[in-house]
Amino acid sequence: MIDLSFVIPSPPEFRVKTSLAPPKPMSVRLQRGDYKPWEPRVERVKKSDKKYPGNFTVRLKQTVTLWKLLHSSNLGGRLLGLKSLIILFLVGCFGAPPVLAAKSRGVILFLGDGMGTATVTAARIHKGFLEGKEPPASGTLALDAAPRGATVRTYAADCLITDSAAGITALATGQKTIDGALSAKPRLDGGIDTLRTVLELAEAHGMSTGLVTTTTITHATPAGFYTHTLFRDKEMDIALDAIPGKTRSRIGDGIEVLLGGGRNYWLPKDVETGIREDGRNLIREMESAGYAAVGTRDELNRAVAAQQKKILGLFGPSHLEYEADRPRTAPQQPTLTEMTRAAIEVLSRNPKGFFLMVEGGRIDHALHANNGYRAVTDMLEFDRAIAAALAMVNKETLIIVTADHDHTMVLSGVPAPNADVFSQAGKDKNGKPFTTLVFGNGPSGIKSIPDTLTTAMMTDPDFQERAGVPLPYEEHGGQDVPLYAFGPERYLKLIKGSMNNTDVFPVLRDAVLGK
Ligand SMILES: [Zn+2]
Repeated sequence: MIDLSFVIPSPPEFRVKTSLAPPKPMSVRLQRGDYKPWEPRVERVKKSDKKYPGNFTVRLKQTVTLWKLLHSSNLGGRLLGLKSLIILFLVGCFGAPPVLAAKSRGVILFLGDGMGTATVTAARIHKGFLEGKEPPASGTLALDAAPRGATVRTYAADCLITDSAAGITALATGQKTIDGALSAKPRLDGGIDTLRTVLELAEAHGMSTGLVTTTTITHATPAGFYTHTLFRDKEMDIALDAIPGKTRSRIGDGIEVLLGGGRNYWLPKDVETGIREDGRNLIREMESAGYAAVGTRDELNRAVAAQQKKILGLFGPSHLEYEADRPRTAPQQPTLTEMTRAAIEVLSRNPKGFFLMVEGGRIDHALHANNGYRAVTDMLEFDRAIAAALAMVNKETLIIVTADHDHTMVLSGVPAPNADVFSQAGKDKNGKPFTTLVFGNGPSGIKSIPDTLTTAMMTDPDFQERAGVPLPYEEHGGQDVPLYAFGPERYLKLIKGSMNNTDVFPVLRDAVLGK
């Protein structure tokens, strides 16, 4: 397989070197990630070397950006039989053709906030149901293709069940800390020890770095990579740490790509819905530091097409919308998949490589509300982002998918084998119905239980599955979480069996250092 990464110049012409003569007539198939393939017309095929008929140039009628040319010599017979070349291209989906560095080594951590095995299983069943798979549980997610996996213990330094702050600190720095703390540990003298993050390490080695999330960009998970504080809730202070050059953090020339929500924390009270008390407009300050500041999908696409080196994308005043709501309530917000693609486009231009963290941040929020539907739909969007990344990166890229902690959702009862996961699974001893998804605790434990459940009720996006212990918010679960890994074998061999969340950092570190 030949892996070529370059831009077709204008006119759109590329050279093919193979042991096979060009098929006649020849068709070219362009495919990028999970987009629909596109077949541009071939203007002409010219043999460039009489001795080697397999060396020829192809000229296309349309201008496209060539991303990857897949051409397998053992494809020979099929290739000639099909009279086509199967070519993977990057079609200039962001307007002007972007340039991807050929050998840029990537390290990507996909973090499903609160993504326990129940959420993964529920999403797989729902996807299988929508696709008509029989049984729905036989469907597949992008993460199911991972060649390596493990289970991960998630406990915090001061609590059996972690919050997202201590959880991300363990993954980002390799050290356990207390709930609420971000890449910092309290000292006995009242001070704090700051813990170096894998993102800071990547910056120190000249790599490009990026953080993509559906929460505020100052929320625990993304912030854990660039701030050092015991107080995760001080998001206005945390925003200051993302400004390169004048902060308590160590982010080198700055995190190249920051995409998520939380504009309010960056703007003073008199601008939009800003809430900063100090009068500072951090979006302006980031622009002065060389960032293109964008607020919509179109602006993001334009910034990527314009080959901006640094992008700050704040697409909503607070958290971004749940994927179940976004098309209706905020269609101008990019999806997690779109943000992931944009980040990889920008970051992979650095020949020294990149580190990227992508968070499906609101899986957690939906679960806190006992709302299985939004958790599952956000999980499926998270999985689409993984698929998009897998389609874009080269073989030298490490991709780890895991969670910071679980929740209390489980699948139980006796649902029919062909049922969707949003279905009735039985009746309790009082004759009241319950669904396949139920929760250990949470707000629906406070509500009265209906006598009947209809499909319309159970598939309503706002439906809250039953919970055992009544609490205002559903809580995190302390079970081990799953980990899935893709990439070079030298990193994958460290992924096995029962790991601690602090064991993930050395894998990320080695990949950043190229060990
Ligand atoms: Zn949470």
